[in-house]
Amino acid sequence: MYSSQVIGSKDTIKLDNGSEVHYINFDNAATTPPFKTVIKDIVDFSPNYSSVHRGSGYKSVISSKVYDEGRNMVLDFVKGNKNYHTVIFLKNTTECINKLSYRLKDSLEDKLVLSTYMEHHSNLLPWKYRFDTDYIDVDKYGRLSMEDLEDKLKKYDGKVGLVTVTGASNVTGYINPIHDMAKICHKYGAKILVDGAQLIPHSNFDMKPVGHPEHIDYLAFSGHKMYAPFGVGALVAPKEIFKEGHSEHIGGGTIDFVSMEDVIWAEPPEKEEAGTPNLMGVVALSSSIKKLEDIGMENIEEYERDLTRYAIEKLKNIPNLILYDDFDIDNKVSIISFNMKGLDHEDLATILGREGGIGVRNGCFCAQPYVQRLLNISDDDMEKYKVDQDLARPGLVRISFGLYNTYDEIYLLYYLLNQIGNNIEYYRKNTKYINI
Ligand code: PMP
Repeated sequence: MYSSQVIGSKDTIKLDNGSEVHYINFDNAATTPPFKTVIKDIVDFSPNYSSVHRGSGYKSVISSKVYDEGRNMVLDFVKGNKNYHTVIFLKNTTECINKLSYRLKDSLEDKLVLSTYMEHHSNLLPWKYRFDTDYIDVDKYGRLSMEDLEDKLKKYDGKVGLVTVTGASNVTGYINPIHDMAKICHKYGAKILVDGAQLIPHSNFDMKPVGHPEHIDYLAFSGHKMYAPFGVGALVAPKEIFKEGHSEHIGGGTIDFVSMEDVIWAEPPEKEEAGTPNLMGVVALSSSIKKLEDIGMENIEEYERDLTRYAIEKLKNIPNLILYDDFDIDNKVSIISFNMKGLDHEDLATILGREGGIGVRNGCFCAQPYVQRLLNISDDDMEKYKVDQDLARPGLVRISFGLYNTYDEIYLLYYLLNQIGNNIEYYRKNTKYINI
């Protein structure tokens, strides 16, 4: 339905056997190709390309205005509050979360950060290495345990300052009930950060009004997973948390006054954006937001959910295929992970690429503790992989749809997987890619 909206969706590639096939990109959780309108808006804006907040010339004024308007685009998109929130443009979600963890260091000094076993390393390591932490558990299907959230908040009795959770898993696609979680967190005096990298591109996000029990306190996401190019991400947070102290990066743009004796820091958000800002990244992100809004997040959600339902129904029938899913499709984004009994995940991904022209991802997707749980591997067994670098590491194969993917593409994946699932021995013995 939306297949002509993005760059490259009609590309063909040559397979090893010489045939030309349509390239199928099922790796949208890693990054999405840009919208054509994003590329056009970048080109159209280029004549005005000039330095942001650093010049009085006509083009600098326009560039600064467009850059700052990008913050309002973001706030409108996630339903933030212009008086209360600030939007800080950084490189990506990882940088946004690192900044937040650095800036919350003092206020969380005597507190504990509660994260989860489901997190991407970018929402795990900044907390694990800067704070006392504990982790909310997941069930056997990998769904986050709401009982464990409340139990832990109760157990720590007001000591948890922050709960940091992904909006949707980049491995299973499970959407977490972030508003219910926010309500529980606030009841126990904790704030909540949502890592929106996988949720924002697929659903209508609502931070909810400030003061509402379900209000999301902090949000981070990346442009390159929502049809803008690499290099821009947004952190949405209350302005007040940036009042004291200074950014982890300081220098040009972060100050109001400097002498050799003294510095007066600028107000946020400028205070937090050291160096010359990424104007074209923000032009691109604003354009992608506009396009997503024009299509309608509800329409995207519905279409991708239908694709996911269709894919799961098909994949369920394939012999030897193991799906890591609880099949609660209304509560997940368009990500499906699986393995094929008897084949290594890397070999399966390679076969899909070389024999079907289907781009997927395999491995642990920067969420090793979560994949370890999904595969039910004990900590002792996991140690083996740390010690023996030559041991093939456990993992999964992941497919993830964007709004431009089609039922036909899913059918082709099904067709090839079915072929493989019915002929495991053949593929084990005859495929030249198998890594044994
Ligand atoms: N969180 C989640 C859930 C992700 O899927 C990703 C990217 N795979 C990130 C954080 C990190 O995003 P980025 O690489 O854009 O910083």
